[in-house]
Amino acid sequence: MTTRQRKEPAGDSPGRRPRRRASARVAGGGRHVAARPAVDLTDRQALLACQPDDPAVVEQARQLKDAALLDFGVRDSVVVSWLYAKCHHQIPTTAVATAAVVAAGDGSCLLLYNPEFFVQIGLAGVKFVLFHEVRHLVHRHLYIDEELRADPVFDLAAEVSINHVVLTRLGRKDLPTRVAGPGGKPEPVGVDPRAVYRRYRADLAQQQLTPLSYADFVATDLGVYHELKRMSTPLVAPADACVHLVAADGAERGGGVPADPETVALVVEATMAEAVRAAHRGNGVARGEMLDLLDRSEGGGERISRLWGSLGVGALRGETPKTRRVEWWKRWLADTLASKLRDGTRLVYPKKQGAVLLALGHDPMLSRRGQERTKVVLIALDTSGSMPDAVVEWLTSLVGQTDGVESHWVSFDGVVMPFVPGERVHGGGGTNFQNVVDYAEGRLPVNGRRFEERPDAVIMVTDGYAAEVTPADPDRWIWLITDGGDDWPDRHHPPMACHRVHTGER
Ligand SMILES: [Zn+2]
Repeated sequence: MTTRQRKEPAGDSPGRRPRRRASARVAGGGRHVAARPAVDLTDRQALLACQPDDPAVVEQARQLKDAALLDFGVRDSVVVSWLYAKCHHQIPTTAVATAAVVAAGDGSCLLLYNPEFFVQIGLAGVKFVLFHEVRHLVHRHLYIDEELRADPVFDLAAEVSINHVVLTRLGRKDLPTRVAGPGGKPEPVGVDPRAVYRRYRADLAQQQLTPLSYADFVATDLGVYHELKRMSTPLVAPADACVHLVAADGAERGGGVPADPETVALVVEATMAEAVRAAHRGNGVARGEMLDLLDRSEGGGERISRLWGSLGVGALRGETPKTRRVEWWKRWLADTLASKLRDGTRLVYPKKQGAVLLALGHDPMLSRRGQERTKVVLIALDTSGSMPDAVVEWLTSLVGQTDGVESHWVSFDGVVMPFVPGERVHGGGGTNFQNVVDYAEGRLPVNGRRFEERPDAVIMVTDGYAAEVTPADPDRWIWLITDGGDDWPDRHHPPMACHRVHTGER
């Protein structure tokens, strides 16, 4: 689809040239020096033959990519996680200047990424680029109207919409930057939606028209397009606006990245169907994402309405979530745990969907390569006080069934006991943290058995009232302090990861 010839951008008329340059500056122009790819982007052997001189760069880039996908799986985006799970080949190659998802005519998808580019933009940049690319595929699938897509203003509108969503979802204020070459200045990667908005506002003010607020301007995909069209000289996307497109000669955007429409449709619809299923299972991230997509595509016409109808997205609206309040401790715990499990993990994307397990509040398509050790998480619940069911339930979904993560559960008061999630436990008297430490470190047997593994993370859920302890690996310990508890681990030396759990919600 991207190989289609585009109309000449309106910016090519002499009167518009300055605007176009200005907008290219906003986008961090001049990044693309690569010519049209010389290799067939569906030829995996040829792609793999294009490697940077330094193998360490390839390895570093691969780790960045895996870490980014882990973050998506764990907390950021169900849609992104699922989509890359459907890219069975993820190939580092210098055949592309940045990154691209190739949708080949045989129904398969490949993620191609330039290792040097990934290393230059770092983890935050890699997440931005991978997220951006997925939104493009979704966008491309939603808006197939040829006339619309032939309009270069629509290209810019897409960049604005997509980057707004990506920045918002990733909780970022600014675009990632890239330093190309030693001593270079950091350049922003991509189109800054707020910079475009400022130009739009100034243009409308000059015409004595009333601009929308930024929030209204970016509210829907087509809204951005219509508002840009109100400008006296609508901005268009600079040739290198998009981080993922392999700019070729500037005349033809997309540089020949194969994007077979049927493959895009298949992959995007399967991804969204997975996300809707996850949402119906109570996955808050998936629900929020899909409802957001529904809102953003408002006014997109009959076809999109039918699409949402067939996926059952609208029905999500009627489901009342248990709480609308953001529960920061959940987000904090997911982040903290991800950071403790991240080091040294090698993630692969199982081809069989059946291999994917419910995890971390949604469904990351992650598993570890065979040679990598399974990660071990020990969860210890203090039953001496009140143990909120919601916390246990959520922890179960967080770590209980993650592929590649093995969880062990115990409960404790004065003594440590085996614990099966879902089973009721009645706490006794007294609380002793040291017993849990001794058990975690393999010294104290429980039911006649010692804990023989070295946990990568230990999650303690407790009110914190007992004698303080110092485990051998304080870095691996995560303390969740229940309502009214004492968060001493935060002030301890050395301090340990510690957060209050607010369970007052109903
Ligand atoms: Zn783009």
